[in-house]
Amino acid sequence: MTRIANDAMPPLQINADRLWARHMDIARIGAIAGNGSCRLAMTAEDAEARALLASWCRDAGLELRVDRAGNMVAVRPGSDPARGIVASGSHLDTQPHGGRFDGVSGVLAALEAVETLNDAGIATAAPLAVVNWTNEEGVRYAPGLLGSAWYAGLLTDEALSDTRAADGMLFDDEARLRGWLGDSSEKIPLAAFLELHIEQGPVLEREEKQVGVVTSVQGLTWLDVRVSGTDAHAGTTPLDHRQDALLAAARMLAALNEAGLECGPAARVSVGRLTTATDGPSTVVGEAAFVIDIRHPDTGTLAGLTAKCTAICETLAVQSGCTATVTQRISVSPTQFDASCVRALEDGAARRGYAYRKIASGALHDAANVAKVVPTAMVFVPCRDGISHNVNEYASPEDLAAGTNVLLDALLDLAR
Ligand SMILES: [Zn+2]
Repeated sequence: MTRIANDAMPPLQINADRLWARHMDIARIGAIAGNGSCRLAMTAEDAEARALLASWCRDAGLELRVDRAGNMVAVRPGSDPARGIVASGSHLDTQPHGGRFDGVSGVLAALEAVETLNDAGIATAAPLAVVNWTNEEGVRYAPGLLGSAWYAGLLTDEALSDTRAADGMLFDDEARLRGWLGDSSEKIPLAAFLELHIEQGPVLEREEKQVGVVTSVQGLTWLDVRVSGTDAHAGTTPLDHRQDALLAAARMLAALNEAGLECGPAARVSVGRLTTATDGPSTVVGEAAFVIDIRHPDTGTLAGLTAKCTAICETLAVQSGCTATVTQRISVSPTQFDASCVRALEDGAARRGYAYRKIASGALHDAANVAKVVPTAMVFVPCRDGISHNVNEYASPEDLAAGTNVLLDALLDLAR
């Protein structure tokens, strides 16, 4: 390392071929039919991917540390010992039928940014780090976002020790078995964190934007709705003499969808599960239950939409001769990312002339946890047809390179 980065230098270009080749190398670990990968956290496949990442980090001259949750933090020293670490990364674990990019791209983009600096002989004042957060997907060990939750203090050491897979295996035991259980003292303070991730939605592709600068992660409320009517004989009960809970629920579903649409394009209102107490083709349903999943990036709007959904269920229940009880089960407030981290990413996208837009994340990410304790932001790369958690997930080498160039610029900005 001979030079310190400065504004007069032409923008560096990351090595798009190396970045793509590494995606394919990781994808071969736990490969499944149709271009997919299955690497559940702390399984043999996850351990193999971790070992490959560790070897690349070693080759790049990084010092690897592993903490209590198995998070990997590979540090490149800075020239100013007083500065905190500017980190970037995501996760190497996948869904059971996962693709080649969800999570992996963020880890490899961070490594690629560091290697580009190595190749150019450029030092930064602050240290940089490449991070692999443990168990983002939460498939084998619930909850998801486990490593970043522990890092942010949202999950205690004790809770981590109690975390168990469905087959009874303890997280700690499996992490130790695989060689990836570190120590609490290895929790490394970070000065800033940036996460590159595929969008997992269709907005960037539809608007022909190559880069998404993520300003927030939307909030989430779950409402449990129980609709009570009366079980009745389908043949003998006239239509105007029924308290049909399923019919009431159907009216509610249509009205909830309308309420979401009226709230604007950022609103999400979904019902993914509906059960009835009776399950007979000749019984009018007396009891139905469903869960409303409501999301919005703005705290006030989310609260307003939640209240509206509650009112819709109560009103339509009465109009249908039934009653409804609505209880809030989960409420996660929206995360606003750090303004200076967002600006660093936006400056990079603008300076390079990429078509970009600011965007709110629809999905939860490790960055939302990390943002509770460290200035944080995210950059999104478009993915084909918005498809993710699917073996057909695809991001182009060009788009991955553009996002990684923006990440590189922002890391340089924050670490200068
Ligand atoms: Zn992910």
